[in-house]
Amino acid sequence: RRPFPRPTRQRIITVANQKGGVGKTTTTVNLATALAMHGCRVLCIDLDPQGNASTALGVDHRSGVPSIYEVLLGDRPLEEVVVRSSEAEGLYCAPATIDLAGAEIELVSVVARETRLRRAIAGLRQEVDYILVDCPPSLGLLTVNALVAAKELLIPIQCEYYALEGLGQLLRNVELVQAHLNPELRLSTIILTMYDSRTRLADQVVHEVKEHFGNRVLGTTIPRNVRIAEAPSYGRSVLTYDPASRGSLSYLAAAREIAERGFEPNGVGV
Ligand code: ADP
Ligand code: MG
Repeated sequence: RRPFPRPTRQRIITVANQKGGVGKTTTTVNLATALAMHGCRVLCIDLDPQGNASTALGVDHRSGVPSIYEVLLGDRPLEEVVVRSSEAEGLYCAPATIDLAGAEIELVSVVARETRLRRAIAGLRQEVDYILVDCPPSLGLLTVNALVAAKELLIPIQCEYYALEGLGQLLRNVELVQAHLNPELRLSTIILTMYDSRTRLADQVVHEVKEHFGNRVLGTTIPRNVRIAEAPSYGRSVLTYDPASRGSLSYLAAAREIAERGFEPNGVGV
């Protein structure tokens, strides 16, 4: 296991796409695990009330456990809700419980409602190399909080017919956030997921996305692989569930690419 280069400055990466089922959660937990397995300290923040990222990292997220909800709405320090994941040494998770379902509405009347997560991360004393934020499938205040807190945006795109539909809406929201709340935010990475080599359509989507987003698209494409889909029901990432699977190897390669590319704060824009 050749270690990955650790970033000189902390990287905060939000994984967003308002479409459901495109691989946001899968990408977040598997990249986080791969980075941690290769010597990086990684915090995964679950910002989806469904708590799928918490589940996949084997972290308790039953209603009542300390969670990101209390951080966003109760001023609870982030480190008080962070727990270790047994998926890898140096991997941590701030879980989401179903309480978070109300947060979208409750946040509306809170002071500085768009910057709650950014402030919580700024107050974190625990030193981590990467913070990965898994967003819900919407462009509401939870996703806005994630975009305001991050320096980098990673968009997973599923290799299917309507792949690019809805992206315009996401990118307009990103521009608004850049203009008003977080000028540092950059769309740094696109990852193509659920690639099926048997269909010509998948290749067309890959081509179209690369044409549109250039070198922000990772060279590694994630194949459709049943081991990836099975892993969460065992509370595991695919990297420990089936290390030799194509799914595991592809997320490992994607994580290595992300680590080796690094991030230039004033590099590529949206
Ligand atoms: P999102 O978080 O965007 O809603 P998920 O990561 O939960 O999407 O993925 C949606 C579904 O597709 C899940 O059941 C997941 O296990 C499955 N899935 C994701 N990526 C793959 C893949 N590469 N191969 C097979 N199944 C996948
Ligand atoms: Mg999800």
